[in-house]
Amino acid sequence: MAPATTTERRTTRQIHVGKVAVGGDAPISVQSMTTTKTADVEGTLSQIYALAAAGADIVRCTCNEQEAAEGLAHIVPRSPVPIIADIHFHHEMALGALAAGVQGLRLNPGNLRKEAEIKQVAAEAKDRGVPIRIGVNAGSLHPDLYKRYGGATAEALVESARMELAFFEEVGFNDVKISVKASSVKLMIEAYRLASETFDHPLHLGVTEAGPPPAGLIKGTAGIATLLSEGIGDTIRYSLTADPVEEARAGRQLLEALGLRERKGLDLIACPSCGRAEIDVIGVARAAQEALESLSLPIQVAVMGCVVNGPGEAREADLGIAAGRKRGHLFIKGKIIRVVPEDEMVAALVEEAQKLVAEGVDARLAAADAGAEAEAEADRLALLENRGADANHSAAKVEIIRKKIHEEDGDAR
Ligand code: SF4
Repeated sequence: MAPATTTERRTTRQIHVGKVAVGGDAPISVQSMTTTKTADVEGTLSQIYALAAAGADIVRCTCNEQEAAEGLAHIVPRSPVPIIADIHFHHEMALGALAAGVQGLRLNPGNLRKEAEIKQVAAEAKDRGVPIRIGVNAGSLHPDLYKRYGGATAEALVESARMELAFFEEVGFNDVKISVKASSVKLMIEAYRLASETFDHPLHLGVTEAGPPPAGLIKGTAGIATLLSEGIGDTIRYSLTADPVEEARAGRQLLEALGLRERKGLDLIACPSCGRAEIDVIGVARAAQEALESLSLPIQVAVMGCVVNGPGEAREADLGIAAGRKRGHLFIKGKIIRVVPEDEMVAALVEEAQKLVAEGVDARLAAADAGAEAEAEADRLALLENRGADANHSAAKVEIIRKKIHEEDGDAR
């Protein structure tokens, strides 16, 4: 699949977070973070498995106390994806996480400030071959930098990362990725653009504290997608005030939508509905999504509100269904293969989706019902005749508006 982005991806050096390559020509990876207490090994592992199933390639867990470091020692060997320990304030937690076998660390230079401690962690990570993310955050920027730059500016965020990197380099450690997150989308975009010009290390993208969906999703997408479309970014994380599974799913879906990762699961498209709709498009689309999502079928499925425009408008979809005259027209790549009663639309869609994935397009087109095309065309023509080509009465509405403007112009004169 050709990427939807127009700019070439910026070249960065490659690091490895366990088995996952980040940077260089590696696929852009999806990250998320657990919300459980890391000391709760079973609870955390169950969330990690859910995140991995939703599309996370790497998962971060907090390591904020001794019990968390002990929990990591049990979690890491059983995790399906590499684990990164999130460290704030206490360098000894970083050392504990490294001893527990984590595949990556995230350090916040804003609250882990002692040079000797930073170097000790970097030296230990170097000995163990574990990469570190320098995770700068506008909200917890070092106070000196805040003062020097007159606030959390893009330059201040990048300078924070540069200073940390200099400490790492003094102990010969360069296995690094960098993030310069902010809750302001504009600031975050500026900071990452500058970081991309300043460093050749892989960049971890995110809008921090984006909040609950849908606003959090919009902010995350605005920031991450803008940068990805400029070729900036090697790994991404949505920060949502929601079940982290939503973060992993959103990350995966964004990369699939941009053509930056192969489709792993369902892509359900649906028309927005209009006056021509013959069914409750929202309800049927939701029912189809619920029924199909758990099957993890890597296909695009369309739910269209009417048979007049639906199959044509969704002809690029692998499979779709359109409603008309109490019936559903099932189509593959725009070609009608079966007509089913309206109340069987979702079941027919699910059944056909499974067969399509198992047997392929050609086989399913060959198995089309003989009379389906003709039956569908009869429904389409009957609807066009009943409702006309202008089911939304757009022409009549335009005429009313014209008249009204004309009257108002007359009043004004
Ligand atoms: S014309 Fe048909 S397919 Fe298009 S939005 Fe309206 S109901 Fe949906």
